[in-house]
Amino acid sequence: LLAVEGLRKSFGDNPVLKSIDLTVGQGRVLALIGPSGSGKTTVLRCLNGLERPDAGTVAFSGGPRVEFGPKTTRQQAQSLRDRSAMVFQGYNLFPHMTVLQNVIEGPVQVQRRPKAQAVAEAEALLERVGLADKRDEYPHELSGGQQQRVGIVRALALRPALLLFDEPTSALDPELVGDVLTVIKELAEEGWTMVMVTHELAFAREVADEVVFMDGGVVVERGHPDTVLRNPAHERTRQFVHRLL
Ligand code: ATP
Repeated sequence: LLAVEGLRKSFGDNPVLKSIDLTVGQGRVLALIGPSGSGKTTVLRCLNGLERPDAGTVAFSGGPRVEFGPKTTRQQAQSLRDRSAMVFQGYNLFPHMTVLQNVIEGPVQVQRRPKAQAVAEAEALLERVGLADKRDEYPHELSGGQQQRVGIVRALALRPALLLFDEPTSALDPELVGDVLTVIKELAEEGWTMVMVTHELAFAREVADEVVFMDGGVVVERGHPDTVLRNPAHERTRQFVHRLL
């Protein structure tokens, strides 16, 4: 579904991504792990068009293929946007909008879909994650776990080909993490294609088809979760995994 080649991104003179290659097959789940500052979030933001890579190619099968460089147009860069939807660490819900308004905002305002259809779809998705009765509440009236489930519903409502999760549970109190992970696991089982940045290594092992370990802006190691998390080939991976497991 997705092929990324030679992705590079610097902030000023700080090279944050130094040529990243990734592929994600249709219906597969890729977990991106690595120490703080290794560039994981920046990868997701580049895939989603929130950040503009300096170089490299991002291609969706049957969809846009963008080669980044000085000549890349804004329009080309933006063609990636509607392919994926991101679930953020801090939920990023609009505080002045109700749950329902948050969910239909993208489909109605950006995708120009009929409002009645967007509402019906939003209600069905909220029902699915056990939040049907919260549709008219505001984000501050919900727990963190509920807000993050709204964040997930908001991403699903965009009908993206690819779901991106940026440490979706790291802002949550431990007792609220389980509900959110359960929803993500169900989506994986349903066949959604996902790239997930996570520090929950046990969860990555359970849900991911492939684990990619990044450090210092490069991919150090990738492979089956059991191999990368249990028996990594590289010393850097070993040290990281041992600290967290
Ligand atoms: P974490 O696990 O802490 O979220 P990460 O692996 O996701 O880390 P990134 O958030 O991608 O890492 O950041 C990688 C590096 O890029 C960091 O050194 C960060 O300070 C820098 N960086 C990220 N975004 C920007 C920005 N907009 N401007 C300048 N530097 C940035």
